[in-house]
Amino acid sequence: MLVTLKEILQDAEEKKYGVGLFNMLNLETARGILEAAEAERSPLILGVAEVHLPIIPFPYAAQIMMHMAKEASVPVCLHFDHGTRYEAIMEALKAGFTSVMFDGSALPYEENIAGTVEICRAAHALGASVEAELGHVGNAQDGNGESSQYTDPQQAVDFIAKTGVDALAVAIGTAHGQYREKPVLDISRLAKLYEVSRPTGTPLVLHGGSGLSDEDFRNTIENGIRKVNICTELCLAADRAYRAAPGFETGVVAAKDSVKEAVRARMRLFGSAGKA
Ligand SMILES: [Zn+2]
Repeated sequence: MLVTLKEILQDAEEKKYGVGLFNMLNLETARGILEAAEAERSPLILGVAEVHLPIIPFPYAAQIMMHMAKEASVPVCLHFDHGTRYEAIMEALKAGFTSVMFDGSALPYEENIAGTVEICRAAHALGASVEAELGHVGNAQDGNGESSQYTDPQQAVDFIAKTGVDALAVAIGTAHGQYREKPVLDISRLAKLYEVSRPTGTPLVLHGGSGLSDEDFRNTIENGIRKVNICTELCLAADRAYRAAPGFETGVVAAKDSVKEAVRARMRLFGSAGKA
């Protein structure tokens, strides 16, 4: 069944667990993710990222995802990840997505606020949720995210109050892509962010989840992270399985199955397994 991000994260906050956002890139990855959620009886945030639209055009992704969400026996939120273009985000809302991320993290603070407010107005009118990013989660390629800007707790309070955003992505030492060396997370900053954001009812989001240790995940969820973004890890799992298969037909099935196993393991670790 199709639900909003807000609904999924509310339950996660009440019961103190994390929910993975798993990005699909094609039919096989989407099927692997869905099968995992059904097998683990876990709520699911199924996403597609704006940056991947050259790989899978949005109308195809939206059709596949909507069909799966409606058919699923577990709650599924359809999320548009890292939207930067207004038109692309509106396209997702028009298609019935229940959550969109507006990523204004590379913009000056006031412009990030203005952009988030604009998206919140449209999304909320349609009953969808909005995630924004404050601070900036950089890329693992540039020396484990040297371009990252850690999120300031006081600014987070101001940002939430001025935008009315439903979930906030924070920068605490993670980075997108494959880490070159083990990332060091600023857990005390996260604890502070949780302390100040908790009274506002705005859950925190961790980007750059692929490559973190089990302990990192437990630690961040314990300290307030409710949504964990996973993408690179699934690409690597699918790639390994596909390459090891003897042919194309066996390869696509192996890729789907290996995505499924990777997602199942994350759902158990994040504590969302058995919550649907
Ligand atoms: Zn991200």
